[in-house]
Amino acid sequence: MAKSVRVSFYGAAGCVTGSKFLIEWDDNKLLVDCGLFQGRKELRARNWDKPEFEPHKLSAIILTHAHIDHTGYLPLVVKHGFKGPIYCTEATKELLGLLLPDSAHLQKEQARYMNKHKLSKHKPAKPLYELKHAKETLALLKTIPRDQETRILPKCVVTPRCAGHILGSTNMFFEIEGKGITFSGDIGRYETPILPNPAPNMVGDLLICESTYGNREREVRTGEVPSHLEKVIKGVVEKRGPLIIPAFAIGRTQTLLYELAKLERAGKIPTLPVFVDSPMAVDATRIYRKFKHDFDDDSQEIMAAGENPLLTENIRFCRDRKDSKSINSLKGPRIIISASGMMTGGRILHHMKQNLSKEETTALFVGYQAEGTRGRDLIEGEKEIKIFGEKVQVRAEVEKINGLSAHGDKLELKSWIEGCDGTPAKAKIVHGEPEAASAFADLLYKELKIDSSSAKHGETIEV
Ligand SMILES: [Zn+2]
Repeated sequence: MAKSVRVSFYGAAGCVTGSKFLIEWDDNKLLVDCGLFQGRKELRARNWDKPEFEPHKLSAIILTHAHIDHTGYLPLVVKHGFKGPIYCTEATKELLGLLLPDSAHLQKEQARYMNKHKLSKHKPAKPLYELKHAKETLALLKTIPRDQETRILPKCVVTPRCAGHILGSTNMFFEIEGKGITFSGDIGRYETPILPNPAPNMVGDLLICESTYGNREREVRTGEVPSHLEKVIKGVVEKRGPLIIPAFAIGRTQTLLYELAKLERAGKIPTLPVFVDSPMAVDATRIYRKFKHDFDDDSQEIMAAGENPLLTENIRFCRDRKDSKSINSLKGPRIIISASGMMTGGRILHHMKQNLSKEETTALFVGYQAEGTRGRDLIEGEKEIKIFGEKVQVRAEVEKINGLSAHGDKLELKSWIEGCDGTPAKAKIVHGEPEAASAFADLLYKELKIDSSSAKHGETIEV
C-alpha cells in the first residue's frame, strides 16, 4: 500500500491572503507558498501568531509566484531558523529582489507609525522582520525551470507550468510517493497582453485551486480595455491636461504600457509623454523586459517586427525624486503612471494633490479599490479627499477601466481545470472569500463531478 501524504492548510483558507500549504511524507516537510496575511486588521494580526509549523524543521519551500500574499512571510520563517532551499522560477526570484526588501521597509514604516501615534499594545512596536531577514531569504532562493520535471526532495518531483498571472507565475504538479497533487497557484485571465494563457498541468489525486473570483463572471471581456483606454486618452488630449493613473508597480503598470504602445502604433492616439513614476515600477518593467522570452505570441510578433511591446514613443522612467518633481512643472496632455495603486501611499499622492482640484485633470483607476482607500472614495464620487493632512477639492474627471484584473473569473478557472490532463479525485478550494470558495466548490461538483470542498484553516487531509 502506498504510504500516506498529508496536506495542511495554514493560510488562504477562508480568505484570499496568507497562502501556506504544508505537504508531509516520511520525514519530509515541504511548504508550498509562504505568504503574508493582508487586508483586514484581524487577518494581519495572524502574521504575529506563532507559526503552526516549525520553520527550522521544514525540508524546503516552493513558491508559485512572487506576490507578497504568497511570499511575504518568508523572511519571518528565515528569522525563525529556516535555512533550506526556496524553489521558484528565475523571474520570481528577480521580482522577489524588489518585493521582499520593500516588504521589510513597509514593516519598519508601520512600526514607526504605530510608535509615533501610540497605537500599539507593545512598547515599542516592532517590525515583523527586518531588511537583513529579507536579504537572508533572497540568498536561499534556488531557481527551477517551467515545463519540466525537477526532483526537489526524496520521492518528490515537481512540474511547474505558466499560470498567466504575473511574470514568472506558475501552477504546479507534484508527484510524491506515487500520489499526484496539483496547486493552481493564482490563475490569470485568458487573452491578456504580455503573458501567455494559463497552461494546463497534470491532475491526479488532489487539486488545490484558488477561487478569488470563484463566484463571479466578468462583464467586461479583456478585449474591451483598449477601446475604453482610447476614449479616455482622446478626452485628455481635448482637455490638454494630465492623465494620472494609480497602478500597481508589478503587472498592472506593464499591461498599461503595452496597451498605450499598441494604441500609439495603430495611430489611434497621438504620441503623448508617458512618465512611469515609481522606483519599483521602473525596476519591475526592467525585469519584465529581461524575461521577454516568457511573453506571449502577440508580444513575440511585435518584437519580431523590431518594436518594443512595453515602450511608447515618448516614455520617461523616473527613479529619482528629482525626476518625479520635475513632472509637476509640465503643461499639456501627458500620462503619469505611479504607485500605489489604491492611493494609500507613494508618489501618486503628490501628483493627485497637485492636480485633482483642476478641471483639466483626468484620474484613471485601473484596478480594484479596497474599502477605506482614497481610490475607493474617488471612484465613489467623493468631492473632497485628504492628502498629507490637507483637504483637496476634486474637480478632475474620475474614470475607471474594468477588466484588467490578473485573476481569472469562475469560467476561466473552470476552463483551466477542464484543460488539465486528467480529472482530480478530490479538490480543495482555497484563496477566496468564504462565499466565493464554497460557490466554486459547488460549481466543480455540479458541473465537473469533482468531490470538492472549501479548505478550512488548520485542516489536515490525507491524500
Ligand atoms: Zn497573485
